[in-house]
Amino acid sequence: MDEFALIRRYFASGGAARGDVVLGIGDDAAVLRVPEGHELVVTTDNLVAGVHFPVTLDAESIGYRALAANLSDLAAMGAEPAWALLAITLPEADENWLERFSRGFFRLALQHHVALVGGNVAHGPLNIAVTAHGLIPAGAALKRTGAQPGDAIFVTGHPGDAAAGLKLIQSGHTDLRHACVQRFCFPEPRIAAGVALRGVASSVIDVSDGLLADLSHLLEGGNIGATLELAALPLSADILRMETLGAAREYALSGGDDYELCFTVPQNRLSQLDAVAANSGCSVTRIGTIDAEPGLRMHDANGVVRGVNRAGYRHFS
Ligand code: ADP
Ligand code: MG
Repeated sequence: MDEFALIRRYFASGGAARGDVVLGIGDDAAVLRVPEGHELVVTTDNLVAGVHFPVTLDAESIGYRALAANLSDLAAMGAEPAWALLAITLPEADENWLERFSRGFFRLALQHHVALVGGNVAHGPLNIAVTAHGLIPAGAALKRTGAQPGDAIFVTGHPGDAAAGLKLIQSGHTDLRHACVQRFCFPEPRIAAGVALRGVASSVIDVSDGLLADLSHLLEGGNIGATLELAALPLSADILRMETLGAAREYALSGGDDYELCFTVPQNRLSQLDAVAANSGCSVTRIGTIDAEPGLRMHDANGVVRGVNRAGYRHFS
C-alpha cells in the first residue's frame, strides 16, 4: 500500500462533515472558513512512542489520545473544536494498527464535530503530531493569567485516575472495564466545561502534567499563591478501590494524563458555577483558594497548613 492509498483508506473520510471546510484532504493545503466575529484558536501536540505512551498501547487508544491532548488544550481556552491536521511517522504500514488508530481518532473527532482536513504520512519511528483548530467568539478566549487573591480554585472530574490507570497498563493490566485504565486510554476533553466557563473563570489550564504542576502555571507572574484543601480532592471510587487514600491523593496531585480542567472563579461569579457544572457533563469540585502570598500550600486532613512542592506530594502518605 503506497502513501496515497494509505491516506485514502484510513484518513480521507471519517471525520465530521463541516460546511466551513471549503477544501479538505487531497489538495496541497486545506481552505477553511472562520465565521464572522470569531477568532481561530490553534494548538499542536505530538505523541512519541515510549515517551507519551507505552509502545504496546492499543492503537485505538493512541489515535484517540493524539486528538484528545489537542482538544483538551482547546477546552482550556474555551474554544469549540472545528478542524484537525494529522502528521504521522510510521515504522511500517500495519493495516490492523492503522485501522484501530483511525477508529480511535475518528471516534473522538465525530464526538466533537471535528473534520480532519489534512496531514502528512512518512516512514520513521512512531510519532503522531496533531494540530487542532478551534473557534471562539472574538475576545472570549480563556487564559492562564487572570487569577486574583480570593478566587476559588476548581477542578473537573477525578484527577489521578489516568495515572493510576497507566500504572495498571504498565503492569500488564489492559482491561478497559477498569475505569482507571479507561480514563488513561480514552480521556474526555472537557470541551463543554470550557465553553461554559467563558465569562465565568478568571483563569484556566488543562491538567496534563499533574494538578500541582499545572495549577502552579496559573500562579506564574501574578504574585499570587494558592492554598488547597487536601480533604476536598475529588478522588474517584475506582482509584480508592485500588490504592490507599494517601497514594490516591498523591496520584491526584502529581499524576499526569488526566486532561481535566483546573480553573479559578472570582467570588462574585461563584453563583454561576451551578450552571457550569450542569452544562459540563462532569463533576466540578472546589479544591482551594487563591491567596496573596506566593507559593503553594495545603490544608491537610488535620487542618494543618503545609508548604507543597509543585512536583510532588510525597510528604503526605
Ligand atoms: P503534499 O506532498 O502536497 O504535502 P501529501 O502527499 O503529503 O501532499 O498529502 C496529500 C493530501 O493528503 C494532502 O491534502 C494532505 O493534507 C493529505 N494528508 C496526508 N497525510 C494525511 C493524514 N495522515 N491525514 C489526513 N490527511 C492527510
Ligand atoms: Mg505532505
